[in-house]
Amino acid sequence: MGEIYTHDIADCPCGQGKIVREHHTPYNPWPSSHESVEISCTGCEKSWEVSYGGSELVERASRDASREAEKAYEKSLNSISDHLNSLLSDYPLPSFKTQKEEFAYLTKAGLYDGKIGQYHYARRDAEMADIAVVRIDSFIVPKLIDTVGNADTYKDLLLQGQAAKKMRLKKRWQ
Ligand SMILES: [Zn+2]
Repeated sequence: MGEIYTHDIADCPCGQGKIVREHHTPYNPWPSSHESVEISCTGCEKSWEVSYGGSELVERASRDASREAEKAYEKSLNSISDHLNSLLSDYPLPSFKTQKEEFAYLTKAGLYDGKIGQYHYARRDAEMADIAVVRIDSFIVPKLIDTVGNADTYKDLLLQGQAAKKMRLKKRWQ
């Protein structure tokens, strides 16, 4: 239980209601008042919401669309990584005398981003190729596609990724 003071800070988008700042002061021995911004309009409440931080209104539809675009972009990045990693098993990685040399190669090639201790540990029951993870920016990507991949398949995946990225920026900033 406590007290709530409210005051209007703006008209709502449709003009029938208000955007209100609520100041909550709970009845208890320790000071823990806080503020929140609410939409005081039945219509606008349905299609708008107060942004995180309470400084602006976000249209629910565009927020959902932007979340969808974000998901699509992530998905396209994942399918590129999956594709690259599926090629790795056919790719002849160089062989080394020591795990330390393997680690140095993988790190330099952008195929591993753990520490040497983690590498030794993982290597106890896995092959070098199983531990390596190909990212889009790994140095071996052009050679990987050249050797065991298909340039057109990869290009298609990249184009899909770029298209998804464009959607994402458009939704976010429009
Ligand atoms: Zn309204």
